[in-house]
Amino acid sequence: MDMISDFDLTGSNTFGLKSSARRAVIVDDPEMLPALAHESAASGLPLRILGGGSNVVLNERLEAIVALMRIGGRQVVRRTESETIVTAGAGENWHDFVSWTVAEGVPGLENLAGIPGTVGAAPIQNIGAYGAQLSDFFLSLEAFDLKDGVVRTFDAAACRFAYRQSHFKAEPGRHVILSVTLALPTVWRAKRDYAGLDLLPEQASAQEVLDHVVALRASKLPDWRTLGNAGSFFHNPVVSAEKAAEIAGAPRYPQPDGTVKLSAGWLIEQCGLKGFRLGPAGTYARHALVLVNHGGATSTDIAALANHTRDKVRERFGVELVQEPIAF
Ligand SMILES: Cc1cc2nc3c(=O)[nH]c(=O)nc-3n(C[C@H](O)[C@H](O)[C@H](O)COP(=O)(O)OP(=O)(O)OC[C@H]3O[C@@H](n4cnc5c(N)ncnc54)[C@H](O)[C@@H]3O)c2cc1C
Repeated sequence: MDMISDFDLTGSNTFGLKSSARRAVIVDDPEMLPALAHESAASGLPLRILGGGSNVVLNERLEAIVALMRIGGRQVVRRTESETIVTAGAGENWHDFVSWTVAEGVPGLENLAGIPGTVGAAPIQNIGAYGAQLSDFFLSLEAFDLKDGVVRTFDAAACRFAYRQSHFKAEPGRHVILSVTLALPTVWRAKRDYAGLDLLPEQASAQEVLDHVVALRASKLPDWRTLGNAGSFFHNPVVSAEKAAEIAGAPRYPQPDGTVKLSAGWLIEQCGLKGFRLGPAGTYARHALVLVNHGGATSTDIAALANHTRDKVRERFGVELVQEPIAF
């Protein structure tokens, strides 16, 4: 196994945060996992799993072995009258995988186009966008259990998916996802019941929906290649109906259990923090929910801005914001 010492991770996270790891290894074969688990135990260095680095806040120095997930492969497994089963290796780029399914004549995932990162990370927070989420299509995944040293298969129930949540977030670092298998419906209709997508004609093709979603995303979010970011930095908070009623003018999204989801971006904007800057970190001028790296920021700079934002929202509205990207 080729281990690289003092590996520079600055180019391996979409925030572009300055970071390095004691050791790093490119994982392109599931068979590498047992040896890697052994190496981690023998060296006393924890194993950290990194996909596309689009949902992490990396510390300046990681005293760890960082596994850069590059396991490839994608396949149409079978087509039945009701569904088409597709599978992909954890290291496949998510957007490329979505584009490939549409090109193969297997629509369904187009609303999730343009989300950065890898297939293997998609179940971690049950990625979602434009009225769809991974769990709508999920069949199973294979993961290496670092604790017990075996490969396990998880079905949807075992993954315990919820809004930006899964079983894997509850037990971080235990399972290395190797591949993901999805079931896409054979009878397909464009899902247009989401703001912005309603502009599409009823008979829009999956490719047209995909292109439209990519264009919408580009108009709202900064391109991480030119302005480092990790997408939405805070979850939209879910509060009691009474609490929501106290906040005048807030957009409210009632939930089936009687609670109300609020817009974290709106709350931040009301605190005057849209386009705010604190050192090299800032909030995006066009979308207050996105924290950005104006150049040379470290995790300390992002943490300072995140704390400032959380404090202002708590003081003004009594609402606690929870960070979405995982710190490590
Ligand atoms: C501009 C931008 C827009 C975004 N828009 C959205 C959006 O619309 N919807 C959405 O849901 N998310 C969005 N995100 C967040 C991010 O793209 C997703 O969370 C994505 O799934 C992260 O994939 P990744 O490969 O980059 O994961 P990483 O950032 O590398 O890792 C994230 C977490 O998953 C773990 N992990 C990664 N791969 C594996 C694996 N194979 N096995 C086990 N654990 C693993 C890591 O250890 C880490 O804890 C956005 C991010 C950006 C930068």
